Amino acid sequence: MKSAALRSQVISGCRSTQAGRTALRLVGYWGGPTTPGWPDPQSFVDHSWDEQEREDVADYLTQGFVFRAFGGVSMCRFCGIGNGEVELTDGSWYRPEGLAHYLTDHGVRLPQVFVGHVNSELEFLEDAGTDTDWWKAQGGSKPEVVEES
Ligand SMILES: [Zn+2]
Repeated sequence: MKSAALRSQVISGCRSTQAGRTALRLVGYWGGPTTPGWPDPQSFVDHSWDEQEREDVADYLTQGFVFRAFGGVSMCRFCGIGNGEVELTDGSWYRPEGLAHYLTDHGVRLPQVFVGHVNSELEFLEDAGTDTDWWKAQGGSKPEVVEES
């Protein structure tokens, strides 16, 4: 079981800072004929990666908040299929929505710092208790009427 302090430490270790502001860190942009300067996805292929961990990370990548949407579709750098047109975020990292496809269909293994982040998030949710008291105590959301005397 991970403590909240350790989780917080792991999360803050994944966030970067730009111009004094916390910045979401990018994972999963790939180089190609029209996108020079990004990492080569071939360099990340590792078919020996534990299948359960690969599946867990791929599942995680399909969840999240839509961070940004674009007018065009991203093409898979391996097979050329249309592979999404939005970016998703978990509040610490952002990635193209099609990143999971690289893991499941092409054997890409993401860097351990990102995999550690995903594992930490999943362990936190698995170990978390629930608190229903706050919600039960809610009486409504209308503004209170103050009677003038
Ligand atoms: Zn593909």
